[in-house]
Amino acid sequence: MSGTRNGRHIHSASEPVTLVTGAGGFIGGHLVASLRRDGHRVRAVDRKPIDEWYQEFADIDNRQADLSEPDACRMAVEGVSSLYNLAADMGGMGFIETHKADCMLSVLINTNLLKAARESGVSRFFFSSSACVYAAEKQTTADVVALREEDAYPAMPEDGYGWEKLFSERMCRHFLEDFGMVTRIGRYHNVYGPHGTYDGGREKAPAAICRKVIQAKMSGGNEIEIWGDGRQTRSFMYIDDCIHGTRLLAESEFEHPLNIGSSELVSINQLVDIVEDIAGTKLVRRYNLGAPKGVRGRNSDNTAIKKVFGWEPSISLRDGIEKTYAWIFDCLHKSVSVRSSFIPIGAVNQGAIVNANESIRRLA
Ligand code: NAD
Repeated sequence: MSGTRNGRHIHSASEPVTLVTGAGGFIGGHLVASLRRDGHRVRAVDRKPIDEWYQEFADIDNRQADLSEPDACRMAVEGVSSLYNLAADMGGMGFIETHKADCMLSVLINTNLLKAARESGVSRFFFSSSACVYAAEKQTTADVVALREEDAYPAMPEDGYGWEKLFSERMCRHFLEDFGMVTRIGRYHNVYGPHGTYDGGREKAPAAICRKVIQAKMSGGNEIEIWGDGRQTRSFMYIDDCIHGTRLLAESEFEHPLNIGSSELVSINQLVDIVEDIAGTKLVRRYNLGAPKGVRGRNSDNTAIKKVFGWEPSISLRDGIEKTYAWIFDCLHKSVSVRSSFIPIGAVNQGAIVNANESIRRLA
């Protein structure tokens, strides 16, 4: 029998288990939260110590394990009926351009998980692929034609990270074709939101820009460094859309790789405009043309996802960034409070704190 006690789900031993790998990370943490909310019996696994996970729930079976190891994969999938693989050694352009071997080693995670899942009879396997699988020649201009699923071939993906994703996609496809294992592949396009990386070198553009603007405000600075000339374009998907699309695809009968991304194309300069507007500030932009910047333009063609599900990611960048900004603001504010003996209290802009809290309230 299963039920709830003190707001916690109580599961019976016979209930199917859903495994989320990379659960200590950004998307994995939100996926665990979503499955848990819906009453699923979840096992959460990540290489990081559990007290470093972005989101941790006491009524979940949380485990620390390195899933590049076959034995760890076997233990993780024991008794599991469906599996979401979100574990990967990854980050924004600053990380993937300088850690190509590390990114490619994530192939061990997906390969060993697929093998273990097949051996133990896991019925569904979701793989988190990326828009980085798309061929470089289709992304050379800022006013790029949005990428359709077939644009991954002929292959010339992002070096390192993109090759690993494309290879692992093929592995999923062949486990489906040769072994009849139900595998599903979502190609995420730039996901952002609260409870993710915003500093330390693995952060992506939306979180990095929020952090830089907040830090400029807090320190009284008037400049922001932007990687590239700011005219490169991307689409950014808010985390709630990502989780919705992931669960739709994982539970569906659709067997091919599918874009899960927003089609709201913006330049990095426009992204900075939005963040500045939320912060109520205007900064001098210093363009670092030597910094990692990735392809010139990239957008998600959502024809296929709309056809399959009658749905596409639609949370506006402005709405999503407001929530993200508020969360990062809060984190930075807390860390400043902890170190307050080193920073003059007047350096913290109280007006921005009120704005951030108001944003959270309005959008929650
Ligand atoms: P993240 O870095 O926040 O989470 C990944 C997690 O995997 C981390 O917590 C990390 O500790 C864990 N991990 C790494 N190696 C491991 C191992 N050997 N064993 C167990 N755990 C391990 O990244 P995220 O943004 O949550 O991304 C989740 C997935 O989505 C990844 O596969 C990523 O490549 C993919 N993806 C993300 C984006 C994005 O914009 N965030 C875009 C495209 C694809």
